[in-house]
Amino acid sequence: MLERVSNRCMALRLDGKVLAAEMENRLRAEISAGLDVAARRPGLAVLRVGDDPASGVYVANKQKACARIGVESFGSHLAENSSAAEVLSAIQAFNADERVDGILLQLPLPSCLEEGPLLAAIDPEKDADGLHTLNLGRLLKGEPGPRSCTPAGVMALLKHNGVELAGKRAVVVGRSILVGQPMALMLQAANATVSVAHSRTANLAELTRQAEILVVAAGRARMIGVEHVRPGAAVVDVGIHRLPPDPEAGPQSRGKLCGDVIAAEVEPIAAALSPVPGGVGPMTVTMLLVNTVVAWCRRHGITHGLADLIV
Ligand code: NAP
Repeated sequence: MLERVSNRCMALRLDGKVLAAEMENRLRAEISAGLDVAARRPGLAVLRVGDDPASGVYVANKQKACARIGVESFGSHLAENSSAAEVLSAIQAFNADERVDGILLQLPLPSCLEEGPLLAAIDPEKDADGLHTLNLGRLLKGEPGPRSCTPAGVMALLKHNGVELAGKRAVVVGRSILVGQPMALMLQAANATVSVAHSRTANLAELTRQAEILVVAAGRARMIGVEHVRPGAAVVDVGIHRLPPDPEAGPQSRGKLCGDVIAAEVEPIAAALSPVPGGVGPMTVTMLLVNTVVAWCRRHGITHGLADLIV
């Protein structure tokens, strides 16, 4: 498919919004089909600590997505100055709650709390974000288990758009546990040959120009331009940033969203490019729902038809 579009003058749009809507329809159907057996809807618990405004928006989006497909949401919002023991106790309550199939600890946490021990306290079978050490280990070993949502969403986006991975040269920019590392493992499991770049990589452009698949998750607004991209590459932009508001647009205006990639430069030479917004963001939320629905099916012995969405 990509061969064909590379002859066009603009890149194929890797549209996460459209694919997420299709996947939501499938999830809704799976839930309806399984309700007789389970006698309850799937449940997702989202635990938010503190008042990070961006987290507030993300949590609200996740709860809206649950409502759209018929997943029950259980929210808990703890104060900014909560102790680790208080957060732990909220996690343990969700671990024990029979109505909850997925638990998500919204990151980042306030700086006084350490992420690792709290993520480790989540029941690995209810780990909706796929960030528990056991589940990262399962990914490393190629064993089934919930996968990290953002890289799993990128894989679904590439697969759905017919981007070939086997035997291709892939470069991931970023090595975080949340995105870059699991992304590299997933691409490698799909038989791509993967390099990982980070802030200490020398000659970044020289490396990224070799990539047939380029996934950028550096968290640096508009850092990847035309000089970083091989013509005909498939480029996935994970970054999301809000630019300062346009001073001409009035005091109430908000700045535009952009990614790590300068889309206007890269679009004319890439074979495929994910937009920001509307690319990886909606896929991340949908993969959270996939992890929750699959956990619900597993707990109730329901056979599902979601295997193609699982990395
Ligand atoms: P992170 O934890 O800050 O990690 C960023 C990674 O990029 C690090 O490994 C860092 O290298 C590397 N890096 C930073 N500057 C670089 C440079 N100039 N050249 C090469 N590598 C560089 O961020 P993250 O959590 O992975 O998230 C990355 C971006 O994705 C952010 O913009 C975030 O908002 C976005 N995101 C979006 C979604 C979504 O659903 N759309 C989900 C998650 C994250 P070092 O390891 O050397 O520091």
